[in-house]
Amino acid sequence: MRPPSADLETQRRAMVDHQIKARGVRNPLVLAALTSVPRHLFVAEEDWSQAYADRPIPIGWGQTISQPYMVAVMTELLGIGPASRVLEIGTGSGYQTAVLAELCDQVFTVEVVPHLLQRARAILDDLGYTNVRFREGDGSAGWPEEAPYDGILVTCAPDEIPEGLLGQLKDGGRMVIPLGPAGGAQTLYLVTVQGERVIKRAVMGVRFVPLMPGGEVD
Ligand code: SAH
Repeated sequence: MRPPSADLETQRRAMVDHQIKARGVRNPLVLAALTSVPRHLFVAEEDWSQAYADRPIPIGWGQTISQPYMVAVMTELLGIGPASRVLEIGTGSGYQTAVLAELCDQVFTVEVVPHLLQRARAILDDLGYTNVRFREGDGSAGWPEEAPYDGILVTCAPDEIPEGLLGQLKDGGRMVIPLGPAGGAQTLYLVTVQGERVIKRAVMGVRFVPLMPGGEVD
């Protein structure tokens, strides 16, 4: 049964209070974005009653919409603001994309599964976001034509940072990326570039879908 929209809004506020704030996410811009993006619209209608639960949800093509807490943590780690240009690898449902679009000036998002990209684009268009650009293809190559970025957020896990992505960060920019084997122990890293120095800090253990080599899916 379709929950009334007032209930969904109450659930969304509870999600921010109990799953996000309670676990230490403090950035008011991040909390505001999570409070305003209607997460249920990014999952199938039969899953609306689960949309604000503390877990990922399947979205088709073997992929999932990330757990709300993970979206909040990754967004906060990026350290972005209203003037930022951000590259996202792995559009998926488009939910994380919307959260980024609430916060920053321009979002560039790359997805390897065409159906997911089309669906995310339709939802974001319907919601009126005009600061998102979409690209279909293998995100390991980034989006060099629009570089450099203040932040790069990767929502699928490669074994190592794809060559070339780091070079698309501004000096002082940040990358948030899960690294590790498919289905195994992965670690979320915050990577910062300062001149010639690349500083890689392990943040927490995570579990993401693998970054697929380009051309592997139809
Ligand atoms: N933040 C998204 C997470 C989706 S899961 C959300 O909450 O909905 C990760 C996504 O990365 C999947 O949609 C998957 O298709 C995509 N992906 C996997 N390998 C990729 C690659 N090489 N390039 C771009 N996207 C990729």
